[in-house]
Amino acid sequence: MGPAPETLINLTVSDLLLPDRNEWDIAKIHQILPFEEQRILAIKPSLTGAPDKLSWLSTDTGEYSTKTGYAAVLSSRSTEAGEARATAERSTFDWRKNVWKLQTTPKIKLFIWKTLHGAIPTGEALRSRGINVDGLCKRCKLPESIDHLLFQCSYARQVWTSAPVYPSIEYSGSIELRSSWPDLCSKKTLPPTGVSIGALAPWIVWQLWLARNKLVFEDKIITIEEVLSKAVASAREWITSQDHLTQPTRLIAPPTMLQADYVLLRTDAAWNESLNLAGLGWMTKRQGRESSFSSIAQHVATPLAAEGLALREALLKCRDMGLSKIRCESDSAILIKAINANSPLVGLYGILADINSIASSFDSISFNWISRERNGKADGLAKNVLSSELAVMAAPNTV
Ligand SMILES: [Zn+2]
Repeated sequence: MGPAPETLINLTVSDLLLPDRNEWDIAKIHQILPFEEQRILAIKPSLTGAPDKLSWLSTDTGEYSTKTGYAAVLSSRSTEAGEARATAERSTFDWRKNVWKLQTTPKIKLFIWKTLHGAIPTGEALRSRGINVDGLCKRCKLPESIDHLLFQCSYARQVWTSAPVYPSIEYSGSIELRSSWPDLCSKKTLPPTGVSIGALAPWIVWQLWLARNKLVFEDKIITIEEVLSKAVASAREWITSQDHLTQPTRLIAPPTMLQADYVLLRTDAAWNESLNLAGLGWMTKRQGRESSFSSIAQHVATPLAAEGLALREALLKCRDMGLSKIRCESDSAILIKAINANSPLVGLYGILADINSIASSFDSISFNWISRERNGKADGLAKNVLSSELAVMAAPNTV
């Protein structure tokens, strides 16, 4: 390829996605980057708008570790997969408990998730992307990092230490969001706030962000007392709306009915390496009634991606069907382990983020590994849909 034409110099990844949809613009890719088409299409963007994330390719989790960084510098040869797996730093952070299962709105959950991934547009983040801002906290003129904005700034510090929680929040020196978050969420909210379930911390983080935006964009100062009273009021309002939603079903439904709306979901995938084509199969079983589903996915780079896509498709379908209690079973141990530990997998970032995001919309969900033998039904569905697709492709064109 020759040098890029002037109109394409500032091309970014988002220019290759269809507007309003998280799908690749195939015609555009074909026109601009025809040689990279297959590699681009094999990257599956998140359907639920997960924020972009840098991925370190020398570990299978995509998380950077100094050891693999050092190894990459010393040797230009690629690190052996087994070695990388052994050295990869496993995150012990429980994402399900500390983010997706929080008693708060989906909007705040997503915000917390982005915050913990360093993906909210603070001054420092904007500067690092080359945007011409001073990158400083508007209150104290120190660099506005996420930790600064939400904890270290004296304004944030006063909000936290005044919060009506037990045990009260006290900190000195530096505090880092990810390591402190589980502890902040474990605090009980004191009466008479009326916040009887869940933690106050997510609501406080959200109000700190809103107060920051009021100051930055409207020059409006929100007091520390206002931040806390808004956090308490919105938490209480949400809890009341939840009671309203859940109480009638709890009262009417006898225990056996609760058992009856529980659904077993088994997923599997079949993968054709030369065509990067995958058959996705899944079955649901409730009250002894079985239903089968399958679909085809193109540009699938690995069998693991195929397994992930099968589970994502199945969960979307279950959500659309209005199912609320799901037990997911798959014979992919790597996938199940990655979901339960919320550890990243290279190439599956968007898919795993979607699975987590969709999972949070169910009342109850669990992810379980089963043997291949027990997953025969879903396996058959995946293989069938793949082989009939291959048969159609192999057939001579008929009018
Ligand atoms: Zn500050």
